[in-house]
Amino acid sequence: MTAQILDGKAIAADIKAQLKTEVDQLLEAGKRRPGLAVILVGENPASQVYVRNKRNSCEQAGFLSELIELPASTTQQELLERIDILNKDDAIDGILVQLPLPDHIDENAIIEKIDISKDVDGFHPYNVGRLTLRMPNLRPCTPKGVMTLLERTGHKLSGLDAVIIGQSNIVGRPMALELLAARCTITVCHSRTKDLEEKIRNADVIVAAVGIANFVKGEWIKEGALVIDVGINRLDNGSLCGDVDFESAKEKASWITPVPGGVGPMTVATLLENTFQAYLNRV
Ligand code: NAP
Repeated sequence: MTAQILDGKAIAADIKAQLKTEVDQLLEAGKRRPGLAVILVGENPASQVYVRNKRNSCEQAGFLSELIELPASTTQQELLERIDILNKDDAIDGILVQLPLPDHIDENAIIEKIDISKDVDGFHPYNVGRLTLRMPNLRPCTPKGVMTLLERTGHKLSGLDAVIIGQSNIVGRPMALELLAARCTITVCHSRTKDLEEKIRNADVIVAAVGIANFVKGEWIKEGALVIDVGINRLDNGSLCGDVDFESAKEKASWITPVPGGVGPMTVATLLENTFQAYLNRV
């Protein structure tokens, strides 16, 4: 079997075009634009690229985009105060603090400061709790974007065995909650998991979020599995690759996401969806 490619770039472009149409209609009706504020602390090159992509996408969809760049020396208190200002700003519907933050800042304290109605990353304990209790509101972008991709395959997810590799707060854990809500039977793997390969061999759905280049081998993949590669790894030659060995995996999977052009663009498109949802909740 040669897999069909789940083209995240094209699906994300569709989502942004649809949002642009809706924003244009709102503007014609005399309403304001949805607004997203992105805070970048320090000069992490990968974060700078992610923030640039988010800003460009905001502009493509007709959203107001505000970038707040702060030096790495910014104190936690200063950052909390900036968030407080944005919490009170009526032109801003979504606030995103680009992670990781410098070591001297407590990420959890920062996330908890964001108004829950503007938490478009969906990382606030309130929004994570709502997802856990099957009352989702603002959902973490990467796992929600993965669900959109899986829906586009047309496969019925209910009853499938799903293996998630990685248990981070931003990908693995919320991904497990999303797939559980879709009535998959989920196995969440991490660095201490026994017999990982065997677990992957039995999976109908595989979501890899490990951060190790080409970690999942094609020979571990069940014929016809849906394979989602969240990983973004930069090789010594400067090129990007995922956590799944794409060339061997595409011979076994029924659908597979490429890297780049799979989950990454969907994360950004989903951020815009969340910002639009936050806007609609607020107007
Ligand atoms: P993370 O916080 O570093 O988590 C990595 C997870 O992989 C951990 O749970 C870790 O287990 C597990 N792991 C590490 N080595 C393993 C092994 N040998 N076997 C099984 N599990 C292992 O990473 P993350 O933030 O979730 O990101 C994961 C990847 O996705 C990265 O490449 C990141 O750049 C990418 N990413 C992409 C997007 C996107 O939009 N496409 C968004 C977010 C992240 P322990 O918990 O036991 O340490």
